[in-house]
Amino acid sequence: YALELFTYPEHYHGDVESVYIPHGVIMNRIECLARDILDDLGHDNLMVLCVLKGGYKFCADLVDSVKAQSRSFDHPITTRVEFIRLKSYLNDCATQDLHIIGPEDLSMLTGKNVLIVEAIVDTGKTMKMLLQHVEKFQPRTVRVASLLLKRIPGGATTLPDYVGFIIPNRFVVGYALDYNEYFRDLNHICVISETGKLKYKL
Ligand code: 5GP
Ligand code: MG
Ligand code: MG
Repeated sequence: YALELFTYPEHYHGDVESVYIPHGVIMNRIECLARDILDDLGHDNLMVLCVLKGGYKFCADLVDSVKAQSRSFDHPITTRVEFIRLKSYLNDCATQDLHIIGPEDLSMLTGKNVLIVEAIVDTGKTMKMLLQHVEKFQPRTVRVASLLLKRIPGGATTLPDYVGFIIPNRFVVGYALDYNEYFRDLNHICVISETGKLKYKL
């Protein structure tokens, strides 16, 4: 989408090339995902594991929507949210080592219906590693929701159970996704310009 159609923080003017997915479109899609999740979950309660930092906005909006839609049930479901922090990227490139920055102990997931909430799945390595880690704590069920899935050659083999949007192989920011910690405060999912990349390069 052409940039001039949207408002976005003034400090990023010149740093954004285009709006890839406008905020309103994201919110609409999340409502559908929440419905799908509730249909699969039935009347069980939900234990959400939010993958920080990139997943925080998606997680908040998804949980809000799940709760809002479950209010019409005879027994509205309860949701609990836990967090895990992972780190792998420098600039717009994946680094070899992926770290769980914390917490390591996920014993609160034992016996629960767990929904892992991620902003983006690219090669799928992060999701695979996280799933292996989560399984150690013997949850009852595990599902994964990712707002974005990148279409890349030889990409992820295990796919998330819920996907918001399938996108081409471009580095995107906004809606909590970052480039060296910048651009998380954009509401829309955007592509950054060469100027933006240089300005915030490490
Ligand atoms: P994967 O392990 O699937 O290759 O990479 C997943 C992680 O890489 C995501 O959790 C995210 O932190 C980061 N990542 C991958 N693609 C992008 C992108 O286009 N933009 C941003 N901001 N992060 C990305
Ligand atoms: Mg991340
Ligand atoms: Mg990042």
